[in-house]
Amino acid sequence: MVAPDSGNYIDNVEPATGQVYSLVPESNDVDLDSAVKSAEAAKEHWANTSLEKRAEILCRLADLIDANADELAKAEAIDNGKAVSFAKDVDIYRSAANIRFFAHAGTQFSSESHAMGDLAINYTLRDPIGIVGCISPWNFPLYLFTWKIAPALACGNVVIAKPSEVTPMTAYLFSKLCIEAGLPAGVLNILHGTGPSIGGPITTHPNIKAISFTGGSATGAHITKATAGMFKKLSLELGGKNPTLVFADCDFDETVTEVVRAAFSNQGQICLCGSRIYIERAIYEKFRNAFVDKVKTLRIGDPLDESTQHGATVSQSHMEKVLSYIELAQQEGGTVLTGGKRHQVTGRCKDGFFVEPTVIEGLDNQCRTNQEEIFGPVCTLMPFDNDDAAVKLANGTQYGLAASVWTNDLKRAHRVAKQIEAGIVWINCWLLRDLRTPFGGVKSSGVGREGGLEAMRFFTEPKNVCIKY
Ligand code: NAD
Repeated sequence: MVAPDSGNYIDNVEPATGQVYSLVPESNDVDLDSAVKSAEAAKEHWANTSLEKRAEILCRLADLIDANADELAKAEAIDNGKAVSFAKDVDIYRSAANIRFFAHAGTQFSSESHAMGDLAINYTLRDPIGIVGCISPWNFPLYLFTWKIAPALACGNVVIAKPSEVTPMTAYLFSKLCIEAGLPAGVLNILHGTGPSIGGPITTHPNIKAISFTGGSATGAHITKATAGMFKKLSLELGGKNPTLVFADCDFDETVTEVVRAAFSNQGQICLCGSRIYIERAIYEKFRNAFVDKVKTLRIGDPLDESTQHGATVSQSHMEKVLSYIELAQQEGGTVLTGGKRHQVTGRCKDGFFVEPTVIEGLDNQCRTNQEEIFGPVCTLMPFDNDDAAVKLANGTQYGLAASVWTNDLKRAHRVAKQIEAGIVWINCWLLRDLRTPFGGVKSSGVGREGGLEAMRFFTEPKNVCIKY
């Protein structure tokens, strides 16, 4: 643990109470240079550490996350505002799973060989890149931090990582577990601070050869420009405005339940949340009524209460942004069917940043509410008349991260899945994740894929060797 060179710290606010409860180091270029030096010193040793040894250390780290799951979940709930039960079942469970998955993937990863008849044989080496940068957002603080760090380390890279300054706490707790797990000094260097002070410098540092970034599309575009001409490998996992397509032949009750979950999990602050819900006209009214009734049952409250389903949004500024979109939606002609306001929780959370789960109908697909990422507990409902119209509506934004389709018609499911412009399509499910599958988006939702072999390939440099017989 090293204090920041500048001596500056920024306030860290608990979203459920609105109170400052810790300070975040504001790192700068000088801190980055020390981190790069320490990474350089550790680089060769880690790259030459056996796969088994690397896997052993990573598995120990995953076990330590499991052993400290209650403390980590509570820390995540305080730092982010998410419900503690969700933090434990999703965030912390997945953080350990990410590390364990890539620990094993590292020992199973193989490279290609291409035979040229009796003329020659090619084999491809896949070496670690060296020093890589991993930058993550605030919505799944430890989950997305480990989703990047684990494959980078498993492939033998040394890492400079930056969690979001909005939710730094579990990255700090994680750094202590890394030491306990026996990760050698310099292999993972965590720098805290804002985008301008340390995120930007990480992306443009000449010794950092690859950047794995998850965050907003505007930041992704900024990183693309800032690193232009530097020939770095870039993986950009960006924003979404995901469509949910509900057909009349769906399993009605199950679909209502799951579409509510898809819209409002984590207060709608998941890049994969289905915020544009298109419903076949024949069941529009029935579905709308059942959907709104279900949304009204979501329990809003103190994130530290085990029974809470809907916690606080991450910050005051984010809450204000979400509320401004609800206002905009009404100016654009939308009708709020439920929610629409800041929610007042009593007791210790009386100043918290809670927003009611909000459902809006009556909007055109082209309006800003339906085109821009709100990233909060707000969704819109729109009817459609046939498959082609549904696909057209679904594809009608600049984003292309994920979609879910609810139908019992097998042919339609395949056809629509093929036609949707997105990196991920779920049929009759949402957020069902197999860590081996490619994860990422198209259009403004990103470039490149994470997950399984895609991540292992991203974090290695292929070199083909051709041998003539
Ligand atoms: P953000 O882009 O503001 O910040 C993300 C991270 O980048 C933070 O650590 C931030 O400090 C850092 N950063 C900011 N400016 C930077 C710069 N110029 N250079 C380098 N780093 C910089 O995003 P956010 O508000 O933290 O997260 C919300 C966004 O993330 C949403 O758009 C959401 O859809 C997206 N997201 C995408 C995925 C995905 O897998 N596609 C997953 C989660 C979140």
